[in-house]
Amino acid sequence: MSVNEQHYKAILAKTKAAGATLVAVSKLKPVSDIKALYDLGQRDFGENYVQELVEKQAQLPPDIRWHFIGHLQSNKVKYMAPFVHLIQGVDSEKLLIEIDKQAGKNDRVIDCLLQVHIAQEETKFGFDGAEVTALIDRIGSGALVLPNIQVKGVMAMASFTEDANKLKQEFTAMKTIFERNAKSETPNLKLETLSMGMSGDYELALEYGSTMIRVGSLLFGART
Ligand SMILES: *Cc1c(COP(=O)(O)O)cnc(C)c1O
Repeated sequence: MSVNEQHYKAILAKTKAAGATLVAVSKLKPVSDIKALYDLGQRDFGENYVQELVEKQAQLPPDIRWHFIGHLQSNKVKYMAPFVHLIQGVDSEKLLIEIDKQAGKNDRVIDCLLQVHIAQEETKFGFDGAEVTALIDRIGSGALVLPNIQVKGVMAMASFTEDANKLKQEFTAMKTIFERNAKSETPNLKLETLSMGMSGDYELALEYGSTMIRVGSLLFGART
């Protein structure tokens, strides 16, 4: 099988020791790889592309918790609304409103994470720290009412770098945003998830307070 079982066990042990959750990022990988990891006990999987997610979900066991971690366009929310477990990359209020609408149509409450832009690269999506705080305050105060979503936390992609100091700065900035906002709590807002850390930086992310890591290539091999 093309799943690295040794890596899986080692990463899972570190994740559990930190009290965090491991999301196995299976984008561009075949259903057989997902099934192999499922058979080892993994239940949380992350995908980046809507059509791929929908096709895989239909072929795999129903107890998989599907995380959408890619950039999501509002007009595609409806395809995943019946089953998605957590939409991690919410980067606009417009998208949040659409998720609320589609969740309502499916008689569901959909959990979401707000994506925060912490990396230097201009290409990454997300709110800045002030924007995400302002949005959380509006939901927390009842100024923005979205009965069919629950904001569960924040997510970020750190810079693609081996500079540990830079990564530490970015993870620390995220933790500060997370903790500042974790205090506000209403029925639609309960910040308990800080999603950060990927194959290259997950150990550091766990050390800096991540509660959810998203690991792909270390588990499934490089993507082509
Ligand atoms: C692809 C992806 C990952 C996983 O990346 P790896 O480096 O393969 O572990 C994590 N998070 C997001 C948002 C991604 O797009």
